[in-house]
Amino acid sequence: MTEQRRAELAEALAEVRTRIDDACRAAGRAPEQVRLLAVTKTFPVTDAALLCDLGMVDLAENREQEAVDKAAELRELRPEAPVRWHMVGRLQRNKARSVVRWAAEVQSVDSDRLADALARATGNAIEAGERTGPLDVLVQVSIDGDPARGGQPLGTLGALADSITRRSELRLRGIMAVAPLTMTPQEAFGRLAEAADRLREDHPEATELSAGMTNDLEAAITHGSTCVRVGTALLGTRRLASP
Ligand SMILES: *Cc1c(COP(=O)(O)O)cnc(C)c1O
Repeated sequence: MTEQRRAELAEALAEVRTRIDDACRAAGRAPEQVRLLAVTKTFPVTDAALLCDLGMVDLAENREQEAVDKAAELRELRPEAPVRWHMVGRLQRNKARSVVRWAAEVQSVDSDRLADALARATGNAIEAGERTGPLDVLVQVSIDGDPARGGQPLGTLGALADSITRRSELRLRGIMAVAPLTMTPQEAFGRLAEAADRLREDHPEATELSAGMTNDLEAAITHGSTCVRVGTALLGTRRLASP
């Protein structure tokens, strides 16, 4: 059972890496410029452990409650694995205290109030010896301005980025987005790339552009993505998440 799953995941991982390599080659970019995040949401911790065995380091979750348990279980299963967990989903401020204890990076910061909560929680966790350093954060932006899926509108990205960099507990790494259904991935990631370029004029350290998922990672890489977040193509089709 485990052996079969390991083989499945190994094959899927090789296929995703080939897609990334091909897209990089087509865009004249080096494959090392694109990180692969395995989005393990809805899949069991045993899958996360197998991905670690296959050399994956960057794992991502989109729901805090599921992630906090999975991260703890993975620490038991693979205490030596050099895992970095990333939070990529909507986050409520009252979860800040918990998320900074398991996440190396939060990619879904989309308001000043959330940034404030994360900064305070990180400071407290460092003081309590539960964290060693600042929290890496990405601002989640809404490419079409529709707040439904979360995300800061592009027009106010600069102000939020400025505010994040004033907090010593947070380290602004870049921006993240999910392509809206209302435009083609090419158009969406084109706009996102322009926003990333503008942001880097004021914040040269904000080098990460987290864009691209199972269905649109090639378009994202064409437009400069440095981090693709892949669930389905690695782990298979998700059953509908239970509420
Ligand atoms: C689920 C999820 C992904 C992965 O999506 P797939 O289409 O399964 O690859 C990427 N990013 C975010 C924010 C997600 O919630």
